[in-house]
Amino acid sequence: MHAVSQQVNEWIDGFLFVANKLLLDLLNTKPVLADGPTELLPDVRALERWLIASGMVTSTKTKAILRGWRHSTEATVFLEQLIAFRETLREAVVRIENGSSPTDAFLAEVNSLLFQYPRRISLHKSDGKVIRETLFEPRKPADLWASIIDATADLLTETESSRIRKCELCVVHFFDTSKRGSRRWCSMNICGNKLKVAAYQRRKRGDHATTN
Ligand SMILES: [Zn+2]
Repeated sequence: MHAVSQQVNEWIDGFLFVANKLLLDLLNTKPVLADGPTELLPDVRALERWLIASGMVTSTKTKAILRGWRHSTEATVFLEQLIAFRETLREAVVRIENGSSPTDAFLAEVNSLLFQYPRRISLHKSDGKVIRETLFEPRKPADLWASIIDATADLLTETESSRIRKCELCVVHFFDTSKRGSRRWCSMNICGNKLKVAAYQRRKRGDHATTN
């Protein structure tokens, strides 16, 4: 397995964002780096940084709430559950990538979380029009499930499954938004160049073989 280079701009605050989908970016919080598979969410402080880097948390108020959870047992428990969920989600995504569908057990788990943590919506007026807005005001760590599970439902139902793919060279998953739908690697900077170099070297070796 090729190691992912950390020298490129797809990294925000030490996390990889190349997937075009929040939940696939969550899967990619365990990439293979130079030292092997690396957990990028080892503690609550790392989770706090990922929530901000991913754009899930933007308001000053919510950032302050997150800071207040740094030594919270509830936040530690949430992170453990989130990591466990990430790995069952990974299995579901691999099944989708292989042309299958998620297991009934996984859908039951998602349904249970959807039921427990429904998306909260409110209406407000903007320029005389009534706008529907999803509320995101986590008061306790478990409230983060509402966004995570809503994004899961989006990934499983609204996303063209043939465009959910794993990089040909590494463990990173992504949603292909390219026009032709022919994206093969996590990023040109990370794995694309390696594949191009490998193909070039193969061609060179081929040329060499035919001239002898
Ligand atoms: Zn890759």
